Amino acid sequence: MSDLEAFRAEARAWLEENAPEGVKGIKADELNGVWGGKRCEFEVPDQKVWLERMGAKGWTAPMWPAEYGGGGLSKAESKILSQEMKALDLPPALIGFGLTMIGPTLLQFGTEEQKKEHLPRIVRGEIRWCQGYSEPGAGSDLASLQTKAERDGDDFIINGTKVWTSYADKADWIFALVRNDNSGIKQEGITFLLIDMDDPGVNVSPILLISGKSPFCETHFTDVRVPVKNVIHEIGAGWTVAKALLGHERTMIADTFGSSAGATKKAGERSFLSSLAVERVGEREGRISDPIIRDDVAKMEMETRAFGLTTQRTADAAKAGHNPGPESSMFKLYGTELNKTRMELMVRILGPDALGWEGDGFDEFALGTTRDWLRSRGNSIEGGTSEVQLNVIAKRVLGLPA
Ligand SMILES: Cc1cc2nc3c(=O)[nH]c(=O)nc-3n(C[C@H](O)[C@H](O)[C@H](O)COP(=O)(O)OP(=O)(O)OC[C@H]3O[C@@H](n4cnc5c(N)ncnc54)[C@H](O)[C@@H]3O)c2cc1C
Repeated sequence: MSDLEAFRAEARAWLEENAPEGVKGIKADELNGVWGGKRCEFEVPDQKVWLERMGAKGWTAPMWPAEYGGGGLSKAESKILSQEMKALDLPPALIGFGLTMIGPTLLQFGTEEQKKEHLPRIVRGEIRWCQGYSEPGAGSDLASLQTKAERDGDDFIINGTKVWTSYADKADWIFALVRNDNSGIKQEGITFLLIDMDDPGVNVSPILLISGKSPFCETHFTDVRVPVKNVIHEIGAGWTVAKALLGHERTMIADTFGSSAGATKKAGERSFLSSLAVERVGEREGRISDPIIRDDVAKMEMETRAFGLTTQRTADAAKAGHNPGPESSMFKLYGTELNKTRMELMVRILGPDALGWEGDGFDEFALGTTRDWLRSRGNSIEGGTSEVQLNVIAKRVLGLPA
């Protein structure tokens, strides 16, 4: 038996023994996944057991080094682990910005002390993170940010407001971009800082949204005292860290839409979209009866499958410690636009049923689809808009003049 075969047998045996029955089949998406943190809510109690066991094993972050609490697995072993989890219908025990954004950034830029302090707590799901980048006057033009950091001995005093901070009301820590110096070009004088949300002077107010579900908050900092040791990389060199983290964020967003596309089907088996169209639009001679919908479903299936395979290759590279560059913008752009088209198509398939917002006249699936369709509009804004991705691709991937 090869080493990898032995690992597969070992992983399967461990999962069979340790995965609680109640987590099987649960989707680890934005709404149903476990985000961890001090105020973590578990939909079913087995999710807590699953998180504790997977966290202790380091398999919430399978490829992070074991010295920081990770699983220490190779790329091949990590792939086998996720195949075995899929085979047993097991979701990842933990999701969130710790694993996908700040963790990889700390591995790249953090000091030994910072890695030892934060990474094991991320792996075990003890701390939930949020992202403090955007401000009322700084979105696409992020480098215009003005949240002020004034040095006072061994601390910075932070004043300013961040906006669109997803789940700030549930987070324990925030990774934030602050301005320590206004004298140079706008990309200079920015510092990447880790801030405890429990610090005096941090206040969070939720913002309501069109989809009815609102992760958004405004985060206000009033004379918040943050130790200088919480700076990642160098004071004033935060723009470099910010861009690296955005690479991880864009890869993660693209991967969300790519991974759901990769499911293999047996020959002749209908896809989810195709079954939905047959159910809602009707079938004639074994085919979706509406030729335009049929055509669009086929096109969507092909594009989704091709994208799924492509992101799988890049996700494998990212998990193996390769830090994504500006190319991540291509995947972010394609994945989010594809998802918007997919949601538009689902709404067309549902027809008038997709006009429902609440009430008995609409089934649960139709109501959920309407809200997911509205949520999908945000995909091509979060992590940088599609126009911004096109600018990054033009300048930093293709090398075109400004
Ligand atoms: C679902 C969601 C979650 C988010 N979560 C977070 C979070 O957790 N933390 C956080 O910090 N932020 C978050 N954001 C904010 C997000 O990063 C910003 O909304 C985004 O960067 C755009 O900034 P803006 O909203 O200020 O729009 P603007 O920058 O004002 O852009 C308005 C329009 O102008 C276009 N535009 C702007 N500049 C250019 C240009 N140079 N060339 C071409 N077109 C241009 C844009 O594409 C857009 O269409 C989230 C946003 C969404 C939708």
